[in-house]
Amino acid sequence: MTIARLARPEIRALRPYEAAQQVDDTIRLNANEAPWSSTAESFRRPLNRYPEIRPQALGESLARYFDCDARQLLVTRGSSEAIDLLIRAFCREGRDNIVTTAPTFSMYGHYATVQGASQRAVITSEASGFAFDVDALLDACDDRTHLIFVCSPNNPTGTVLPRPALIDLLERRGDRSAIVIDEAYIEFSDESSSTELLDRYDNLVVLRTLSKALAFAGARCGAVMGPVDVVRMLNAIQAPYAMSTPVVECVEDALEDHCLDEARQGIDVIREERERLTAELRAFDVVERIWPSAANFFLIRVADTEAVLRHCRDEHVLLRDFDGSLAGCIRISVGTRSENDRLLHCFRRINGDPA
Ligand code: PMP
Repeated sequence: MTIARLARPEIRALRPYEAAQQVDDTIRLNANEAPWSSTAESFRRPLNRYPEIRPQALGESLARYFDCDARQLLVTRGSSEAIDLLIRAFCREGRDNIVTTAPTFSMYGHYATVQGASQRAVITSEASGFAFDVDALLDACDDRTHLIFVCSPNNPTGTVLPRPALIDLLERRGDRSAIVIDEAYIEFSDESSSTELLDRYDNLVVLRTLSKALAFAGARCGAVMGPVDVVRMLNAIQAPYAMSTPVVECVEDALEDHCLDEARQGIDVIREERERLTAELRAFDVVERIWPSAANFFLIRVADTEAVLRHCRDEHVLLRDFDGSLAGCIRISVGTRSENDRLLHCFRRINGDPA
């Protein structure tokens, strides 16, 4: 039995929307489209026509890039949409639950609420460096835990789930839950993607996005990868023509070799700047703690959050603060070298250093 059996019965039975046929060199009077293009358009494919219901060539390119079989991948509007699709597919309202770590990306809990599913959050402690605890995750599960979300590297802590721990989780939980690894920031880490485990573990689902390392957040494109029958179900739920022609074309361009080379150079710069920034910030009295991060951001604890945010805002630098268990912590995204210099300048001012 595969994890697809954990999905809502009505979703397992759902057939995908049947789109109007699209055949080249035909007169298309079958989709209520405009027969001409607007003069405002500037794309390779005519915008008066619907895009492919699912972008096949793009799906194949992304599968090559993420190293899986194209049938194991669905192209989504950012990885946010993939989280929503998974929760809608797997969780019955008022019955099923998701297990997550905490603190983590808030959208898992958000979409669980939208679906009427409950969230069980397993706290990772500051003292342990926010390390993931597989035993605690397994203890939090019951027979209605259909999804376990682990964000690795984790937003906002930058923590990674080491490969042996992931394998432990996959093996011990087996087909009782789908284990979803959100790898939005994986390119900035030393870990390889867990997509290399997809053929070995049929309870594994992996989320990737083009929003971070590929610098395409504005395009809204990501992918969910997992067992073929799960991908087929998610495909049936996703809106027809979800990926618009402009997005498909711009992501095709993003996957050209020269663009990928550029992205790789960008990743190297961000990793170097992350190390420079954390090393320099350590010298300031106001900075109490900096957690090592495998992402393009890092988390710090400061003595006076308000003062840090105010000084930064005065210099037009925005940072992210938190309440609850992370009160007193600030998440800093790594910018360009000159943006990071500006941030360091703010900290010098907070420290009372001469300008
Ligand atoms: N996962 C994580 C961990 C994130 O931090 C984010 C965005 N902040 C997303 C997913 C969603 O990103 P997108 O929808 O742009 O792919």
